[in-house]
Amino acid sequence: MKVELLNQLVEEFSKFPGVGRKTAERFAFHILNLESSKIQGLINSIQEVRDKIKHCKICNNLTEYEICNICQDSHRDNTIICIIEEPKDLIAIEKTGCYRGRYFVLLGALSPLDGIGIKDIKVKELLIHLKSHPEIKELIIATDADAEGAATAHYLADVLKPLEMKVTRIGLGLPVGADLEFIDRNTLEEALKGRREI
Ligand SMILES: [Zn+2]
Repeated sequence: MKVELLNQLVEEFSKFPGVGRKTAERFAFHILNLESSKIQGLINSIQEVRDKIKHCKICNNLTEYEICNICQDSHRDNTIICIIEEPKDLIAIEKTGCYRGRYFVLLGALSPLDGIGIKDIKVKELLIHLKSHPEIKELIIATDADAEGAATAHYLADVLKPLEMKVTRIGLGLPVGADLEFIDRNTLEEALKGRREI
């Protein structure tokens, strides 16, 4: 019976991204050997992440508050916005340490094959945001280097054209098909610096 329960836990861990059977087993045995208080801490932490983390009202980044720490930071450059697919892309760009502007997270990318269209990502919200912030002068489109990211960038370039802002796209040196979060820091920094107007 006990082994069956352990198997169940291994199954659950195996569903995590990047976790194979061996690692899942290691996690399960780790849990088995933890003290009760540590287990409770882990459970609470998972529950709190689920209950308290939400999207920033301004940029859709993840935050425990109404407004995320980047939107609250008065030292960031208000004239430049980096448009990304997911909050984890923001973490990747922040790690380069070379970007001091603000962000807007689309919460997805266009993918007609999966039935994800314009209404499923935050394009309308982006346009409203841009219209209410006339200080913004440049938009960097930093969607992934895959088909969905490219389709989203093309679409954005079209809808952003009438706004007469400088619109650039990162990409130089990025491996084709690359997911932004998995690109190493130097390559991403070069891609940001080498952005080109579209
Ligand atoms: Zn924010």
